[in-house]
Amino acid sequence: MLPEQYQDNINTLLQKIEEADAIVVGGAAGMSAAAGYNWYRDDENFRKYFNAFAEKYGIDSIFGGFYYKFRTEEERWAYLATLINFVAEVPLGQPYKDLYKILDGKEYFVLTTNQDTQFMQIFPEEKVSAIQGNWTALQCSKPCHDQIYPYAEQAKELCSHIEGTKIPTSMVPECPVCGGPMELWVRSFVFLEGTKFRDEHRKYRKFLLENQEKKVLFLELGVGQMTPMFIKEPFWNMTYSWPDAYYITINPKDALLPGQLEEKGLAIHEDIALVLRDALVEQQKESKEGAV
Ligand SMILES: [Zn+2]
Repeated sequence: MLPEQYQDNINTLLQKIEEADAIVVGGAAGMSAAAGYNWYRDDENFRKYFNAFAEKYGIDSIFGGFYYKFRTEEERWAYLATLINFVAEVPLGQPYKDLYKILDGKEYFVLTTNQDTQFMQIFPEEKVSAIQGNWTALQCSKPCHDQIYPYAEQAKELCSHIEGTKIPTSMVPECPVCGGPMELWVRSFVFLEGTKFRDEHRKYRKFLLENQEKKVLFLELGVGQMTPMFIKEPFWNMTYSWPDAYYITINPKDALLPGQLEEKGLAIHEDIALVLRDALVEQQKESKEGAV
């Protein structure tokens, strides 16, 4: 991308944010990757937390371990506790902090398919819907009852009892109601779509209903091609059919603008961390100049 074109994109992004009555942010895996957390890769972060599992089982990414068929519950929960502890412990990524500052003072809502809780760590709970669950909570695996259990504290405790790649049998979590196995509260065949899940959708729908006649910006961050049905396609449809909506997608690989949205959208093929950083710097520069 040419420098002038890049600067034009930053300016359009800031202008659309400035003009919007309401901003709907859709954040997915690319946002976390931009923050340095790649769930599909054997990288430094992965080795720092999961090395014992990588060496013993040949697991080569965080997701790889999540789907790995451990032979015992003691091994599986040693891995899952490590995963939960990782999610709870790693620092909040810079792109999240930058986005938070950029949106400061605006009317906005965040919809995310990310399960890593990073959005929730900085944005107020009433402004975020995590519709695919989150890695730090448990549910019954059946599920036999409608309850999710925050588990970050216990996972930390479990981690301190891991020997090799196992936790003691007595520490394997059990459902407090049926006594059966527990699962992480994330999208799977047994994903609990109960009260908490419906609540997340209700918050989001309410924001959309309140704002659909207004000047709305849909800002898509890091949504890939694999699951377009949660954020990308609804954003396209609403931008197309709402009277005063605009769509911006930022993605180094998958920034796509459908032909029908040519007049109502912009695709920025760039690193998300870089774009948010530069947009924030530019925004602060402008507000300083405005104040003089
Ligand atoms: Zn149960």
